[in-house]
Amino acid sequence: MKLPKTIKRHCPYCKKHTDHKVSQAKRRTPSSTHPLGYGSKKRARLRGSARGAGNLGRYSKPAVTQFKMSGKKASKKTDLRYQCNVCKKTHVQSSGIRAKKVEFV
Ligand SMILES: [Zn+2]
Repeated sequence: MKLPKTIKRHCPYCKKHTDHKVSQAKRRTPSSTHPLGYGSKKRARLRGSARGAGNLGRYSKPAVTQFKMSGKKASKKTDLRYQCNVCKKTHVQSSGIRAKKVEFV
């Protein structure tokens, strides 16, 4: 899917149509978004567990090839971010479109 780098869109902060810079959101790992989340190893360490060698079967996962969803879908939904050129605020798209590849031209 080819998309323009800038697009004219309504900005809810400026309350009018302005130029927006379009970008695809990068995939983030759970550890980068919630480093101290409930199931995180860092939190467990801070609270006194998850020490020493081995994970005692708590944090290990099966091989990726055993994941149910691995390799099922060839396309991903887009997760576009629109940054207003006037106020520099970023908005997200309401619903993604399935695409194999997103290109900005
Ligand atoms: Zn704006």
